[in-house]
Amino acid sequence: MEKMEFESILLPGINPKRPIVIAGPCSAESEEQVLETAKGLASKGIKLFRAGIWKPRTKPGGFEGIGVIGLPWLKRVKEETGMYVTTEVATKDHVFEALKAGVDLLWIGARTSANPFAVQEIADALKGVDIPVLIKNPVNPDLELWIGAFQRLYNAGIHRLGAIHRGFSSYDKKIYRNLPLWHIPIELRRRMPNLPIFCDPSHIGGKRELIAPLCQQAMDLNFDGLMIESHRDPDAAWSDAFQQITPDVLDYVLNLLVIRDSTQSTESLAELRRQIDGIDEQILELLAKRMRVSREIGVYKKEHNMPILQSPRYSEILENRSDMGKQMDLNPDFIREMLKEIHEESVRQQMIIMNEEKA
Ligand code: PEP
Ligand code: MN
Repeated sequence: MEKMEFESILLPGINPKRPIVIAGPCSAESEEQVLETAKGLASKGIKLFRAGIWKPRTKPGGFEGIGVIGLPWLKRVKEETGMYVTTEVATKDHVFEALKAGVDLLWIGARTSANPFAVQEIADALKGVDIPVLIKNPVNPDLELWIGAFQRLYNAGIHRLGAIHRGFSSYDKKIYRNLPLWHIPIELRRRMPNLPIFCDPSHIGGKRELIAPLCQQAMDLNFDGLMIESHRDPDAAWSDAFQQITPDVLDYVLNLLVIRDSTQSTESLAELRRQIDGIDEQILELLAKRMRVSREIGVYKKEHNMPILQSPRYSEILENRSDMGKQMDLNPDFIREMLKEIHEESVRQQMIIMNEEKA
């Protein structure tokens, strides 16, 4: 696959200043709800209005979106507020209907981007159309699958692309509805530096009080935009009620954001960065040394017919090192995770030795 050269997703008149904000209800419910919410948002300077017309739901029988009858409501939003409108598409029929209704920007939802057949169907339906498309991360934390979705759209001639980070499903829901796993969008940025990235704090957090801190984190990570669910009466919303905020609250949240200047020269950081480079080199040298010792242990175990995995020793390492880390002010969870990775690699190295033919 050749390198993707993205074109701007900015529609005429949209200020490129961070954050570019897309806001609106999870779902379009009625003409009044759509119009009142849109007018509230427009009065706060929001230029891009979202509303789900087709809603992918976990189980049948819930509210699956108002469907095509909601599309003329979006048209009214455009006419009466001057905002651009955007909705989620999951099938080729959605694409045709949305385009026919003059929707300005499309997004592909997290359940859809996890399915290459569905993404391909949308890409095929968009051939020859010039419209910006945002792709949410797949529900599962698979960066390659996410990148594959961009490639499918790109190959269909859609070059005005952007990403939306909405977090990742997990069985173990604690604080977040969908785990942020920030390293995944950070890696996406490294792989595709010119792709604009939005953060969707509503679906990551799943609750109102997490929206402000998530927006701030996204801005601190230099994300380009935010997609935030906003409803005229959040408690009465037909879907995702816990995570929606009124246009007034949204405006409050946005005004509190501290936007750090990403164009500033990083000259003054040069010395500290050199220190980091040196420390990383030392860490790598130590790791290489640790692996060499570990391979020697592998040779010994092989010669003495011992199994690779010695569980009591492994548990002792984890316990002892995370205590040590704690005393050095290191996060014990981080230390455990890091040691697990290192241990896994040591085991792999020893397995190679076990499987080598005796010379
Ligand atoms: C939505 O934006 O309302 C939505 C359904 O999001 P996701 O695809 O991220 O679950
Ligand atoms: Mn939603």
